Amino acid sequence: MPIKKVKTVYIVGAGFSSYAGLPLTTNFTDAMLKARGFSAGPSKLIVDFVSQFIRDSFDISTKATGDKWPDLEDIFTCVDLSANSGHHLGGRFAPADLRTVRRSILSRIIRMLDQSYKSGRKAKTPSWLLLDNFFSSIDLTQSGFVSMNWDNVIERKIQLNLGSPFIDYGCDAIAAGVPDLPNSDDYTTDKQYLKALQKARVVSQGKPLSDADSAKCVPVIKIHGSINWLYCDNCRRLFWMHPDQASMIADQLITTEDLRRMEKILGKKNVANKQDTIDKLKSNPPMLCVCTDDVRLGARIATFSYRKALEFPMFQKSWFAAEELLREAEEWVFLGYSLPAADFEFKYLLKRTQLSRSVKPIIKVVSGGKPASIRATRGNYAKFFGRGITTSTFFGGGLSAFMKS
Ligand SMILES: [Zn+2]
Repeated sequence: MPIKKVKTVYIVGAGFSSYAGLPLTTNFTDAMLKARGFSAGPSKLIVDFVSQFIRDSFDISTKATGDKWPDLEDIFTCVDLSANSGHHLGGRFAPADLRTVRRSILSRIIRMLDQSYKSGRKAKTPSWLLLDNFFSSIDLTQSGFVSMNWDNVIERKIQLNLGSPFIDYGCDAIAAGVPDLPNSDDYTTDKQYLKALQKARVVSQGKPLSDADSAKCVPVIKIHGSINWLYCDNCRRLFWMHPDQASMIADQLITTEDLRRMEKILGKKNVANKQDTIDKLKSNPPMLCVCTDDVRLGARIATFSYRKALEFPMFQKSWFAAEELLREAEEWVFLGYSLPAADFEFKYLLKRTQLSRSVKPIIKVVSGGKPASIRATRGNYAKFFGRGITTSTFFGGGLSAFMKS
């Protein structure tokens, strides 16, 4: 289905989600390491395991704070290049261990993003209210989004304004849900119950939308994937879950084998003992695909790596959809996105789309934060888009300045 034509495309980065209380990418590591203080549980095990990997590979103490850690881009680039080419990274981390490192960090980030959003919702800070005002003031029938972020801030705000998450991800993602768990009272033995749990979570596809509801859908193109997406490696279908189910997906990423590998590297025994495995299964059985209940669905997120794995079908579709959306819109509004050099593939997409148009888009940039970072952002845009970036199109005072314009 072609993507809906809209008047304004908002191109958003981590600065946009920070209005909802989510950390900027540079603070992800600290937010992730908060689980060190936990006494037990999967988050604590994951953080201890990843800290050990950072100790072995980058010679950083397992007690160091996030600001002493290498950038996530450097971590993911080394992990991805090694694991994807079938190489060890140091004697202790074989490719399978490195994939566990990748899943562990992603799982922790998904959970952290979800928790940060919930804390933001509770605190209702002035910037949270500003974001709410922004969504209620724009015409959602004439707006589309291209998001660099994995979080579900846009989806949740659309749901709030339209009563339901009317979203078109532009990559043929199928709306789906997870069935309720079987009741343990219906089974005579624990073994029977566990067997039922293992086969219980075949995702259910949502009903197709009516034409009227389809017309309400807002294009939300997520070129780096989304924390509420699950992908089947067998039939290659992509499912999207309700944004409130993100923490279930974080659990889904970590398998029993991952727990065993973490246990081995940490030199611990019985971390993932039988009871833990049963408890994990009870609280969160694997989500399975509709094509066959033998295939566990996995997350698909393009990591922070400098060489992002964008060759999966849904990423290709998303990138085409972003181009289509940008080709037709009158206005491109960049919100909380600094146009970094690491996003060279996306910058090339912007540049070729801009130059291919007979009528060029109006470009606006909304930036916030400290004066030095606002200056740097303005410099980035001026060097990339030229003289169109002026005091009347660059809003250094953030969303509030933009909304007053
Ligand atoms: Zn499948």
